[in-house]
Amino acid sequence: MKYSKKIAILLFVVGCFSSAKAQNFKATDPIAINQKVKKGVLPNGMTYYIYPTEVNKNTASYYIIQNVGSILENDQQKGLAHFLEHMAFNGTKHFEGKGILNTLQKQGAVFGKNINAYTSTDETVYNLDNIPSKDGGVVDTCLLVLHDWSNFLSLTNEEIDAERGVITEEWRTRQNSGARIYNQLAPYYYNNSLYAERMPIGDMEIVKNFKYQVLKDFYKDWYRPDLQAIAIVGDINADEIEAKIKKLFADIPTPVNPKKRFEIAIPERTEPTFKLALDKEISSSNISFMIRHNAEKVTNTFAELEKSTQRSIAFSILNNRLAELTQKQECPFKGAQIGYQSYSRLNDIWILNVSPKPEKQAEAFALVMNEWVRAYKFGFSKGEIERAVTETTSRYENYLDKVNEISHQQVIGMVKSDYLNHEIIADPAAEFEMAKSILKNIDTAILQEQISKLYSQQNRVVAVTGVESEENLTQEKAFDIIQKAENDASLQPYVDTFVTKSLMDGVNLKPGKIVSEKEIKEIGATTYILSNGAKVHYKFADKNKKTVNLQAESDGGTSLYNKQDIPSAQRCTEFAMKSGLGSFTQTDLNKILKGKLVSCNTGISSKTEFLVASGNVKDIETMMQLVYLNFKHPRFDKEQFLLMKQGYLNSLKNREKDINFKMMDSLSVAVYGKDNPQIHSLSPKYIEELSPDKMKAIYEDRFSDISNFEFEIVGDVTPEILKPLLEKYIASIEGVKRKESSKYKEPKRVSNKIKKEIFIEMETPKSTVKVSYYSKEIAYSQRNKILIYFLNDILKLRYTESLREKEGGTYGAFVSALAAKEPIPAFRLEISFDCDANRVDQLLPVLYQEMDKIKKGEIVSEDIEKTRTNYFKSKADRKNFNRYSIELLNRYIKENYNMDDPKNYEDIVKSVTAKDIQDFANLFLSKAETYEIVFKPKK
Ligand SMILES: [Zn+2]
Repeated sequence: MKYSKKIAILLFVVGCFSSAKAQNFKATDPIAINQKVKKGVLPNGMTYYIYPTEVNKNTASYYIIQNVGSILENDQQKGLAHFLEHMAFNGTKHFEGKGILNTLQKQGAVFGKNINAYTSTDETVYNLDNIPSKDGGVVDTCLLVLHDWSNFLSLTNEEIDAERGVITEEWRTRQNSGARIYNQLAPYYYNNSLYAERMPIGDMEIVKNFKYQVLKDFYKDWYRPDLQAIAIVGDINADEIEAKIKKLFADIPTPVNPKKRFEIAIPERTEPTFKLALDKEISSSNISFMIRHNAEKVTNTFAELEKSTQRSIAFSILNNRLAELTQKQECPFKGAQIGYQSYSRLNDIWILNVSPKPEKQAEAFALVMNEWVRAYKFGFSKGEIERAVTETTSRYENYLDKVNEISHQQVIGMVKSDYLNHEIIADPAAEFEMAKSILKNIDTAILQEQISKLYSQQNRVVAVTGVESEENLTQEKAFDIIQKAENDASLQPYVDTFVTKSLMDGVNLKPGKIVSEKEIKEIGATTYILSNGAKVHYKFADKNKKTVNLQAESDGGTSLYNKQDIPSAQRCTEFAMKSGLGSFTQTDLNKILKGKLVSCNTGISSKTEFLVASGNVKDIETMMQLVYLNFKHPRFDKEQFLLMKQGYLNSLKNREKDINFKMMDSLSVAVYGKDNPQIHSLSPKYIEELSPDKMKAIYEDRFSDISNFEFEIVGDVTPEILKPLLEKYIASIEGVKRKESSKYKEPKRVSNKIKKEIFIEMETPKSTVKVSYYSKEIAYSQRNKILIYFLNDILKLRYTESLREKEGGTYGAFVSALAAKEPIPAFRLEISFDCDANRVDQLLPVLYQEMDKIKKGEIVSEDIEKTRTNYFKSKADRKNFNRYSIELLNRYIKENYNMDDPKNYEDIVKSVTAKDIQDFANLFLSKAETYEIVFKPKK
């Protein structure tokens, strides 16, 4: 949801209110432009953006942003904008056939991850992400790709024909209940305008049968420099890139008598409309009430920032109120949001969205409508406004602290707003100055005025996604609810009862000591032993500025409990977190923490209990307090237990309608059998076994032995700051002392070799194929781990070529590998794809043929080199962020493995040969337990 039409910043996270003097601004004062961006327009009309940043060293990202989309198609062209997107990767002037993929894969790029694209109604973007930028040749290649995308797609007949199947399969994969509901609602959302008929995926009859020239004409008509921008973001020299662009893109001709790029306004409508959409596979309802507006003219001024900031504050308070309501069992909805956002090129919307609990549609809608009316009629309390202002201020401060860590994708987001919507890329510091002056003048009258204006009488739509077996909201009832809420004389202002308190109120701390300190030379870390027996491993890292991460773990987990207690063990941390902390409810805790960037969560796995926390360094003390409270003062609130239980029961309702659940359930039964005592999935019996008393007891037991926990702390924090906090908040946690280890056992499968067809009723017939290999027989080693990933990534390349491109049989095959040391050493490889049910017999053998080739040693050497290069590049990329240091410390402590030592990674990757992969494939695939499950539509 986009509340703010200006500030990208508001979309990111979370201080204290700076009391520095605010300047005075006039409404017409322009927002200052960010000088880091180099922007220009070539003589042929193409716009370019260059943004140098070292956030990810030695890499750059290349984008072409086209002001075209499916809205420009005529009735005979439905689906061609998206078809062209696929053709961008199937041959251009300088890159024949799969030349773009091939060339960039050799630089370590991965299709779908580093090389991607999307097409929507009004914009089309193709991109290359995080490509090595220090080799001038590679930079030139990437620019040449952008150049070819602009005007030089080959569009050969053979490649066009080959892609028809892939797109039909993409349609099949995407054609779920959500898509079918959207098709029913779109005419109402868009008031029967062209938008309702221009879903980018298009019409499959056209996709299968269009004449070649129709596609070529569409390309020529719309894909031209006056409707295109390119953007290069990354570790590059802006002047050099600009010179290259001017030279390389000069040969793209200026369009002569170009077609006018039209824009569609959704027609106005006086009478409100209503639509109830139904689908057999929908398991829970949803209600949207929206009011369309003409999009506001972008001015890039102080007045505009003021308006968007005020709206953003008002809606965030309102949404907090709605979230607060969900904390009560009797609340008729699971969740609800209200906001204002841009909708299409020429329209914005005010939108109220509710997810009702089963059979509660009318009550849910009525309650949310009341909150909306209460907000604009009576406004907001001083406390609510103060907290929202603090939060906004601290988001700005945090953004400015980390301004050099803005990702390539975030920059591209701003570029797109600039090119497509004319919202300038603002200078964040200058924008913050304006924001300060706006924030200091906010009061409830201003906020009420801002949001009331959005609630107009015309262009209203209520769209309901119903459930076939429920009593669904009717038009009459919906309109009646709206009318009653608007005229409810009994409505009272919101009462804010919250009084700010300190997090540690009433807590009596007895600080402990650090009793010993030892350096871990190999990885530049330190281990502290605390007086209560806890171990803390610490490593300084400042690749991400001013952030700190903490994790703590102890052996044990749910494996220590009886079968009937396992549901309580699995859900006890969720119960505690929903209940709040210490003397505070979750709602109060959120209010106390407003403006601070901290999080702290606990969990229990089958083998361990753990705690994960993170925060801004300036909020590190708050983070440590949360850690202390999670150990010593968890909260267990019976009301929250009942709410949780109700939520689980509701999620089971109508679950049989959802085909994804049906597949998951039937897969589990096929592999592990019915009622396997080691499988604990959500069921009425599971929910019945949950006990709040047991959950409390288990939580307290799991977190009672602090001496069994090892802490790992990584971040931009010095020992001088950290050590006193450790003594105060961690060494002070008193606990029992005991020796404990996990008793985890793998669930038993019904057989080592499972092969099964499962028939499922479905609205859009398709097959889903799932094949899995699993082995506990292979020794866990760094080398074997690397080898299974080679096998995985080579298969991915093979399946893209065979199953997708050659057969046109699927939109894509997923391949995933796992090599785990915990909870038991094991290797796993899984492959799955969707396809036409009639083609399974043709496609499944292809899946196995590719494996057999590897087993026989028929491995394409380029595949090995592409994979190897990707591993070196990915590792270098990861080192640009703190998460690398977190993993480094963790693996050293847990596995005594030093990621920085080339012997453990680079040397192995370098040495892997085709023979190694072949041998590993033979060993692993022959020892593995397997299943092959094919889901088919029930006739
Ligand atoms: Zn596609």
